Amino acid sequence: MSKDSERVKKAVEMATKAHEGQFRKTGEPYIIHPLAVKKILEDWGMDEDTVIAGVLHDTVEDTDIALNDIKDEFGESVAFLVDGVTKLSTARNGMRDIDTYLPETKDNFLRLMIALGDDIRVLIIKLADRLHNLRTLSALPPDKQKKIAKESLEVFAPLADRLNMGLLRVEMADLSFKYVDPKRYEYLKDLIEKYNKQAARSLKKIEGEVGEALKKEKIKFTISGRVKSVYSLHKKLAKHNQNINEIYDLTALRIIVDDITTCYLVLGIIHSLYTPMNGRIKDYIAMPKQNGYQSLHTTVITKDKHIVEFQIRTKEMHEFAERGLAASFYYNEQKLTENYKKGKIEHLPTN
Ligand code: MN
Repeated sequence: MSKDSERVKKAVEMATKAHEGQFRKTGEPYIIHPLAVKKILEDWGMDEDTVIAGVLHDTVEDTDIALNDIKDEFGESVAFLVDGVTKLSTARNGMRDIDTYLPETKDNFLRLMIALGDDIRVLIIKLADRLHNLRTLSALPPDKQKKIAKESLEVFAPLADRLNMGLLRVEMADLSFKYVDPKRYEYLKDLIEKYNKQAARSLKKIEGEVGEALKKEKIKFTISGRVKSVYSLHKKLAKHNQNINEIYDLTALRIIVDDITTCYLVLGIIHSLYTPMNGRIKDYIAMPKQNGYQSLHTTVITKDKHIVEFQIRTKEMHEFAERGLAASFYYNEQKLTENYKKGKIEHLPTN
């Protein structure tokens, strides 16, 4: 906590005082929430103005603090961000219940968010706000839980995806899906766990084989398994008539290397070890997805007839795939520092 700058400390003080006497549905003092949003934004590596605006994001709407007070104390940029977040939530309150949303209304909301987020940091604060509300959703009555979860699944998780914030998208979608369709959620979660348990041993073997081949070529790499999220499996099953045998990326191995040339080299090595499946090689490095996602994907069949997807990418691509736009803010900030000019890039800690 002591690493907070004077400005951040001042914002925390201001918000604490303003929210005094207010409580969350969990019974905790309200300030818990803006402080949690602050922590999320810090973890994402956001700049100081965004963190401050995160601390103050509910003050204009819910307390006596006026936008001008924020402008006087913290400047134009923080005030602009808080104003954007406030406008978003007022616009949303004016809309009907999500259950009666017409499809166009939902699109309009997304369009509105994008228009208002003409400084995209407004959206990032809104996403941090929603993430914490989802994490603490159990304190709300069931009808509210469902409403917020549904909206998160249909509006906020896709927004996270548009910003290529993969970790966030997965956490939001799975947290929400659990409330939207609890039975289905539990069923699929068990299914994934069982499948992973079964696959664990053969995956280890494959990891070993690939690792050995890469070492032989003196390639620096890290390899790890990635677990499919419950919600993305749910959506894929819907597309494939619920036939799990048609889902080829239930288990995937991720290989992270230093540069793009090495990505292609690794792809070649994998194809020399195993048989690639027809039509399952995707070059998102040469042709990135719309949200900027980059990686090479290939699905192969091993000698033991196991089907495994490989995802091959550089460290930068990986960080961008997990943190998306938030990560690019982090690196842009660094570009202004001396260390960066000397070529010392500080990477965000990966988990
Ligand atoms: Mn809030």
